Amino acid sequence: MNEAEKYMKEAIRQAKKAYALKEVPIGCVIVQGEKIIARGYNRRNTDKNTLSHAELNAIRKASRKLGDWRLEGCTMYVTLEPCQMCAGALVQSRIDRVVIGCMNKKAGCAGSVLNLLEMDGFNHKVEVVRGVLEEECSSMLSAFFKELRKEKKENKKIRG
Ligand SMILES: [Zn+2]
Repeated sequence: MNEAEKYMKEAIRQAKKAYALKEVPIGCVIVQGEKIIARGYNRRNTDKNTLSHAELNAIRKASRKLGDWRLEGCTMYVTLEPCQMCAGALVQSRIDRVVIGCMNKKAGCAGSVLNLLEMDGFNHKVEVVRGVLEEECSSMLSAFFKELRKEKKENKKIRG
């Protein structure tokens, strides 16, 4: 296992915490040097908050830890391509690099719908690496949605 895969495994571990809460399983970690300084997972339903995406939760923790809103010299490892809100926050944080597990064709803003992380017009560009442990990250999501559909179907049956 290489270094990127090692940290992506940690991001997957975070995503599994979301899964356990019946949240869409998305997780991430922020690494500075060789140290994980923050972790986050999707808690949107649990917190009843649009802002409670894995990435924003981790950015908040990293800033608290560093005592700085700037995340220069840091890398985020995230299981799913960030949305427009999180990609925007990542640019704002001036983070160096984002390593992505699998892409999100319908909502991703690191190359799918848009590529906010690598736009020429902004004052900061984030280096992007894609497809680290892609299979594992995407199969976790498909398993989650499959289970959700099954549950909905069963609930329907119970209610008649
Ligand atoms: Zn997001």
